[in-house]
Amino acid sequence: MRELKNAEIIAVGSELLTPHRLDTNSLFLTGRLNELGIVVRAKTVVGDNRHDLAALVTSAMTRADVLLTTGGLGPTDDDLTREVIADLLGVRLVEDQDLVASIEARFRLRGVKMPTINRRQAMVPEGARVVPNHHGTAPGLILEREGRVVALLPGPPRELQPMFDVLAEEVLLPRTAGRKVRRRQVKVTGRSESQVEEVAHPIYSCLGDDTTSVQTTILASPGLIELHLEAVGTDVAAVDRLLDSGVSALAQALGDVVFSTDGRSLEKVTGDLLRARGWRVAAAESCTGGGFLARMTDVPGSSAWVSGGLVAYSNQVKVRDLDVPAALIDAQGAVSEGVAVAMAQGARRRFGTDVAVGITGIAGPDGGTPEKPVGTVVVAVATDAVTVRTFRFPGDREAIRRHSTSAALDMLRRALL
Ligand code: AMP
Ligand code: MG
Repeated sequence: MRELKNAEIIAVGSELLTPHRLDTNSLFLTGRLNELGIVVRAKTVVGDNRHDLAALVTSAMTRADVLLTTGGLGPTDDDLTREVIADLLGVRLVEDQDLVASIEARFRLRGVKMPTINRRQAMVPEGARVVPNHHGTAPGLILEREGRVVALLPGPPRELQPMFDVLAEEVLLPRTAGRKVRRRQVKVTGRSESQVEEVAHPIYSCLGDDTTSVQTTILASPGLIELHLEAVGTDVAAVDRLLDSGVSALAQALGDVVFSTDGRSLEKVTGDLLRARGWRVAAAESCTGGGFLARMTDVPGSSAWVSGGLVAYSNQVKVRDLDVPAALIDAQGAVSEGVAVAMAQGARRRFGTDVAVGITGIAGPDGGTPEKPVGTVVVAVATDAVTVRTFRFPGDREAIRRHSTSAALDMLRRALL
C-alpha cells in the first residue's frame, strides 16, 4: 500500500476568487494533515469552471499521495467537482438510494419537499466511499486511484470539518507509518527581517540530520519576526531533540531580541513577567491612541497586571492630566525624550503603579519635520529608574503605530528582566 506523505488541496468556488471570500478550508485541512505527518506540497483556488478544475486535478494526480478538494458539491449547475472527477477517473456516477432517502429526510425534517435538483447530491462515483454529512446535504466522497487518495469534501466549513475526522481515522492514519510533523517558533522583536536572516541563515540552513530535514520559514510583520521550524519523522523524541537544538542555537545567536521560543506572544511574555513580579503597569499614550494597552489587555487575565492608562493626544491633556511641564513641550517639542519620560512618570504617579510607559511620536502621514520625520517615536519606561529611546520606524501610519506598541512592549519586557 502506498505510504501517504504529501497532499495537495484544491479549493473550488468562484466566490473564493473575489475579494469577499477567503479560502479558509485549506488552512484547516493543512493543520489536520500535518498532525498526521502529511505535508501539503501545493494548494490552489479555482473557480467553478470545468476545464480549469479538470486541468488542476490532472496535474495534482501526478504528484500528490492525497488530493483533497473542497466545494463544488452543491445541488446547482455550477457545482462540478463530482462530475469532473468521476469523468477524469473514468467512473460512472450512480444514484445512491440511501443518500436520496437521507437527503429527503433532511428536507422533511424542515417541513419541505426535497427540490429535484438536490438528487444530484446523491450521485456517487462508482467505488467511492461515502462520508455522511450531519450538517448539510452533500456527502463527502473518497476514492482511490493507484494508491492515491482523492477526497471530495463540501465547501461549508462546518460540514467539512467533522468529515475530516472520518477521512483521517479510517483512510489516512493507517497509511502514514506513524509519522508526525513537529514545529517550533522563535520570535524576535526589534530587528528587521534581513537582520534576522543574516544571523539565522547560517544556522538553520545546517539543521537536520541524515534521516530528518528541518524546514525553516521566516514571517515578518511590523515589530515582529518569526522563525518557524518544522520537521517530520516517526521518532517523535528524536525530531523534538533536533528541533530543540535548532531553537537553542538560533536563540543563542540572536541574543536578547528573542522574546519567546514557546509560542507566546510579546504581550503574553510581558504580562507573565509583570505577574511574576506582582507588578502593575499603566500607560500614557499619544500617537498609539491606546494601542499599547489594547495589546496588553488582549491577554486573558491581564486585569492582574494592567492598571489603566490615558490617551494623552493633545498637549493640553499631557499638561493637565499628566503634569507634563508646558515649558518642556515648548522647549523640546511634544515628540521628545523629555516629554515621553514626563508622560511615563505622570502615568506612574497618577495610577499608582510600579511601572508605567509613555509613548509619543509622529505616525504621519503629515506632521513630520526634517529633524523629526514621520516615524519618529519616543518610548519611555518609568520604574524608580527611567529608560527612554527614540526610534525611526518605517512604513505607513498603521505600520508605525504597530512598531510603536511592539517597541513599548519590548522595552517594558526588558525593564522587567
Ligand atoms: P459549495 O460546496 O461549493 O456549495 O460551498 C458552499 C459555501 O461554502 C460557500 O458559499 C462558502 O461560503 C463556503 N466555502 C466554500 N469553499 C470554501 C473554502 N475553501 N473556505 C471557506 N469556505 C468555503
Ligand atoms: Mg461553490
